[in-house]
Amino acid sequence: MTDPEALSPLLRHIAKGSATTRAHLARTTGLSRSSVSQRVDALLSNGLVIEDGTAPSDGGRPALRLRINAEAGLILVADLGATQARFAVSDLAGAELASGVQELVIDQEPIQVLAWADRHLRALLDTAGREARDVRAVVVGMPAPVEFGTGTAVKPPLMPQWDGYPVPGYFAERYDADTLVDNDVNLMALGEHRAVHPDLEHLLFIKVGTGIGCGIIVSGQLHRGADGAAGDVGHIRVPGCDTPCRCGNSGCLEAVAGGQALASHLTAKGVAAATVRDVARLAAHGNTLARQEVRAAAQHIGEVLAAVVSFANPSAIIVGGALAQLDEVLLSGIKSGVHGGALPLAQRSLRIGASVLGERAGTAGAIALAQERVLSEEGIANLLRIRRSG
Ligand SMILES: [Zn+2]
Repeated sequence: MTDPEALSPLLRHIAKGSATTRAHLARTTGLSRSSVSQRVDALLSNGLVIEDGTAPSDGGRPALRLRINAEAGLILVADLGATQARFAVSDLAGAELASGVQELVIDQEPIQVLAWADRHLRALLDTAGREARDVRAVVVGMPAPVEFGTGTAVKPPLMPQWDGYPVPGYFAERYDADTLVDNDVNLMALGEHRAVHPDLEHLLFIKVGTGIGCGIIVSGQLHRGADGAAGDVGHIRVPGCDTPCRCGNSGCLEAVAGGQALASHLTAKGVAAATVRDVARLAAHGNTLARQEVRAAAQHIGEVLAAVVSFANPSAIIVGGALAQLDEVLLSGIKSGVHGGALPLAQRSLRIGASVLGERAGTAGAIALAQERVLSEEGIANLLRIRRSG
């Protein structure tokens, strides 16, 4: 019994913690106790799960509790932002073994950035005392529209040199692992959902950083749309504005209210600000002009989100990105924009709040995405192949 199709559903329940004993797995999946036992034996003998303590059972002896064998593989994460990158190594159970943050200018030749990222990932593997040959998934987040199936950025305004560059190919030559590439805000949405709001079916995660983007969770799953561009709210046009945008259009939300736009507005008014982090720092320290800029931007963002709320009817909007630390200025502006524009029914159960994971949302989402891939049928087939050949 080493059929990935049979093993994957059990493994996913064990990973999520939704069923962790043989009896509970049988009840949850509807399989017979003997089928479950046979499959669990296969998972145990192939080193994919381990027995770890006991769980209370309905009468009789306490049942043996199962959990994912954290040692069965490693996950590497390179969450690349416009001005900063976060790196992490985690085990297959999702525990972070090492992590780090580095300054980055993303708009360079992709091969240079990826070689630099790989050096940092290898240094983290060393720190964690682990080997590159145990890596089973690499996840790269990028501030770009990403075609998820091929792992390529498509006409990315912040990083034009990456247009069409096949990121997975770079890592395929270096690791016996799947490489997944996704938009950075999609990863943040997934991380926040899985870690903080796993019971919410419909959630929007809006990132207000250098640019503006939105990750969409529908029915508990990431919604990428037909081509991976779903949620690109930064390029929705703000009525009455005609500021040119990096994408080639004008009046885009990002060109009016993104962190880079706010930095330019402040500089033009004589307050030196080069990046979104400078804007956040100035506003946090009470600079009046910076706070005015953030408040005006929040109102524009809220008005665009009002239309999105009427369209998608989420039960929560989570606000993240470098400006999200300015809770009251940014959130109150966004709330007022949304409340003024969306239908009452669409707002009835709507909560708007700041990200709980903050800067860690992207790496948390990347780890969750990698776990889901490694524990899929295809991923398990790969694990079994590697185990047989090793
Ligand atoms: Zn645009």
